[in-house]
Amino acid sequence: MGAAPPVLSVVVPIFNEESVLPLFVARLRTVLDSLGETYEVVAVDDGSVDATPAALSGARRQWPQLRVVRLRRNSGHQAALIAGLMRAHGTYVASIDADLQDPPETILEMLRLARDEHLDIVYGVRNDRHSDTLFKRWTAGLYYKIMRRLVGKQVPAHAGDFRLLSRAAVEALRELPERSPVLRLVVPWLGFPSGEVLYQRAGRAAGRTKYPLSKMFALATDSITSFSSAPLRVATWLGLIGVIVSGVLAVIAVVAFFLDETVRGWPSLFIAIVFLGAVQLLFLGLLGEYVARIYTSVQARPAYYIASDSENAPAENVEER
Ligand code: UDP
Ligand code: MG
Repeated sequence: MGAAPPVLSVVVPIFNEESVLPLFVARLRTVLDSLGETYEVVAVDDGSVDATPAALSGARRQWPQLRVVRLRRNSGHQAALIAGLMRAHGTYVASIDADLQDPPETILEMLRLARDEHLDIVYGVRNDRHSDTLFKRWTAGLYYKIMRRLVGKQVPAHAGDFRLLSRAAVEALRELPERSPVLRLVVPWLGFPSGEVLYQRAGRAAGRTKYPLSKMFALATDSITSFSSAPLRVATWLGLIGVIVSGVLAVIAVVAFFLDETVRGWPSLFIAIVFLGAVQLLFLGLLGEYVARIYTSVQARPAYYIASDSENAPAENVEER
């Protein structure tokens, strides 16, 4: 890297994208070369086990602005994104997925908006979700609704991790002590002036999604537990209500006893036991989520390890191992 930092850095987390990578690299390069300013691309190879590392090394030979950061093992989309953000030098830093669902052309629009309106954050907001399944649309809608409630209205709905950050915003992120923040929530939470650019989210150009249901669920739990302890309070309230209800029931039972009315109650007894058991387990699990969060943050293990960074080595030495 020369003395002056580039105007724009583009961070790309990549995991097993051999089928889409050539398309992506070609399209991104066309767009960035048309910018007419200095730029760098920080491709974070998130421990790919297909032909991705080879493809990246190959692309790097023909594209000097392409820098390849390799993680030692697959650490997840968020960790890869953070690894790239922390290493980017640009005055503005954009992040984009490698599967061409986010159009690279939109980055130029984001940059223009950020400069014209002096914004620190520009979100890419999907103008519709037709390329997603009904299920994903529905769960995503619910997710953003809950998170806007918990974090605040500055969280844009339907903005994923396609966005542009100013150097100031990146530095603010860097200073957060949190090891693995949920970026799409922490970024709006930083409170910088922000804007939005609408874009049409395409279907995947090739390959398959790396976000199965289990990862979506993990993201949702992380999101909620990292921003709110409200679910814990629900347990307290439910417990309180349970105490009152059972108190009333006890009085009724005693009165019925003295009136010599037999209380017919096997089914209700059974339901009550199962219900209470279930509620207790549910909240025990919920409590566990928070404890687990404390546990991982106390361990303070890095969210990822860098295996190699082409910036620190001459081109020949950064081939995959
Ligand atoms: N990705 C990654 N590590 C992972 C999973 C995904 O770096 O463990 C990358 C992936 O290569 C892509 C981006 O993160 O560039 C988004 O993943 P994907 O398109 O599979 O998610 P979806 O768009 O289906 O939510
Ligand atoms: Mg995708």
